[in-house]
Amino acid sequence: MKNKKILVWFRNDLRLHDNEMLVEAIAKSDSILPVYFFDPRYFENTKFGTAKTGIFRARFLRESVAALRTVFQKMGGDILLVHGKPEDHIKELVEQFDIAEVYHHREVGPEETLISGHVEDLLWTLKINLRHFIGHTLYNKEDLPFPIKDIPDVFAQFKKKTERDAIVKSCFDSPQSIVFVEHDSWGVIPSLDELGFSLNGNDPDASYAEGGEEAGLEHLRLLLSEGSDIYLKTNHKSSIDKPGFASRLSAWLALGCLSPRKVYWQVKEAESKFGSNSNFNQIILGLLWRDYYRFMFKKHGVTFFQEENLEQAILTALELKGTGLEDWKSGNTGNAVVDKYMFDLNATGFIPHAGRLLVATFLVHILRVHWSCGAAYFEEKLVDYAPASNWGNWASVAGVSKDVKSKNGFDLNKQIKILEVVLPDDSLFA
Ligand SMILES: Cc1cc2nc3c(=O)[nH]c(=O)nc-3n(C[C@H](O)[C@H](O)[C@H](O)COP(=O)(O)OP(=O)(O)OC[C@H]3O[C@@H](n4cnc5c(N)ncnc54)[C@H](O)[C@@H]3O)c2cc1C
Repeated sequence: MKNKKILVWFRNDLRLHDNEMLVEAIAKSDSILPVYFFDPRYFENTKFGTAKTGIFRARFLRESVAALRTVFQKMGGDILLVHGKPEDHIKELVEQFDIAEVYHHREVGPEETLISGHVEDLLWTLKINLRHFIGHTLYNKEDLPFPIKDIPDVFAQFKKKTERDAIVKSCFDSPQSIVFVEHDSWGVIPSLDELGFSLNGNDPDASYAEGGEEAGLEHLRLLLSEGSDIYLKTNHKSSIDKPGFASRLSAWLALGCLSPRKVYWQVKEAESKFGSNSNFNQIILGLLWRDYYRFMFKKHGVTFFQEENLEQAILTALELKGTGLEDWKSGNTGNAVVDKYMFDLNATGFIPHAGRLLVATFLVHILRVHWSCGAAYFEEKLVDYAPASNWGNWASVAGVSKDVKSKNGFDLNKQIKILEVVLPDDSLFA
C-alpha cells in the first residue's frame, strides 16, 4: 500500500522509550497519527459515590499527555487530542485520514478491555485491523515459562518459576525521527474544568509528582544516583514509625510514562556499580507483584475475586451507610496511624505500601466495611491507580484473592498487631 498510515492509539503508555507499538508503527508505515482520547467515562462518578478519577491523577494525566505532545512537536508533529470515547470517534478518524491499521497496547482491566472490544468491532466493519501490543509488564507473556492459563495463582510460585526460567528483555530505543500525518487541528488538552472538576479558582496544590516521561526518567535518574536515599539502609520490617523505603515510581509506571523494563535495567545498572542493596530488591519485587496482578486479571478476569455473590455484597455495602466508611475516608477514625495515612492520601494522592496495607486492613477487618468501598475510594484518590494492582491488592487484604496461601502475601495478624500499637501522632513517620 502506498502512503500507508497507522493510527497509534495511546492509552497508559505515554512514552517514547521502550515502546514497541510506536517503533513498529513507524517501521510499518509511511506516516503515523498518534491519538489520545480523554474518555469522559473516566471522569464520571461511580456507584460507590466516588469519582473515577480524582484531581491529582487528572492533573498528572494532563501533564503526561502534554509532555508527550511537546516531544512530538519537537519532532515536527503532534498528537491528536480528542475529548470523547474512542468508539465514538475512531471510525471517523480512520476514514478521514485513510488509516490502514490501528495499533494499541492491550489492557487487562475489564472496563479497558470492553472499550478495546468496542473499537475492534467497529474497525472490523471497515476491515481494519486493531493490532494489540504488550508493553505494560516486566515479562512478556510469551516469555513466561507457562501459558497464561497455567500461571500459578500463588505469588511465591509465580515469582520462583518466572525468575528462574524467564528473561527480562532489553528495552526498545526511543525513535529519533517520526513522520506524522499532515494535519492542522490537533485539538487541545481539556481543562480540569472541562473534565468536570469545579475548582472555584481553588486548584489544590500539586501532588507529590509531575506527570510525563521526562519527569519520570529524571525521578528514576535521581533515585539511582550516588548519594540518594536508596543507598541508605532501611528497616524493612515496616514498623509504624519506619514505613520503609518507597521509590515512588508507581504513578509513572501506571500511566506508562516509565516502562517497567526501563526501571529494571536501570536498577540492574546501579546494582552493578554500587553493589546489591535491599531497596533495589524491593523495587524488583514490586515489579513482579505488578506483573502478577496483571497476569491474574488476564488469566481469571473478575473471577480472580473469590467471593460468592460479589455483586450482591457490593449492593449491600452501598445500602449500609454510616458504617465508619466516611470517617475512614476523611481520616477521622480515632486511630492515629490510620488517620495520618488517610490525611496524606487525601492531601497528596500517595501513601507507601505499608500505609495502604494498614488503612485497608483497618477498613475491612476492624470497621468491617466491604473491601470494594475502599478500593473505589483508592481508585479516586491514588495518582498511581492501576486497575489490576488496586483491585488485586484490595482483594488480597480482604482474603478473597486467588492467592490466599502465599508467604509473600498479605499477613493479617501482622497488620492487626501494628494497628494495636498506640503511638502519639507526632512520633509517626519521623
Ligand atoms: C490496598 C492496596 C491498593 C494498592 N493500589 C495500587 C494501585 O492502584 N496502583 C499501584 O501501582 N500499586 C498499588 N498498590 C501496590 C503498592 O502499594 C504501590 O505500588 C506502592 O506503594 C507504590 O509505591 P512505590 O512506587 O514507592 O513502590 P516500590 O516499593 O518502590 O515498588 C516499585 C514498584 O513496584 C510496583 N509495586 C510494588 N508493590 C506492589 C504491589 N503490592 N502490587 C502491585 N504493584 C506493586 C509499583 O509499580 C511500584 O512503583 C496497592 C497496594 C495496596 C495494599
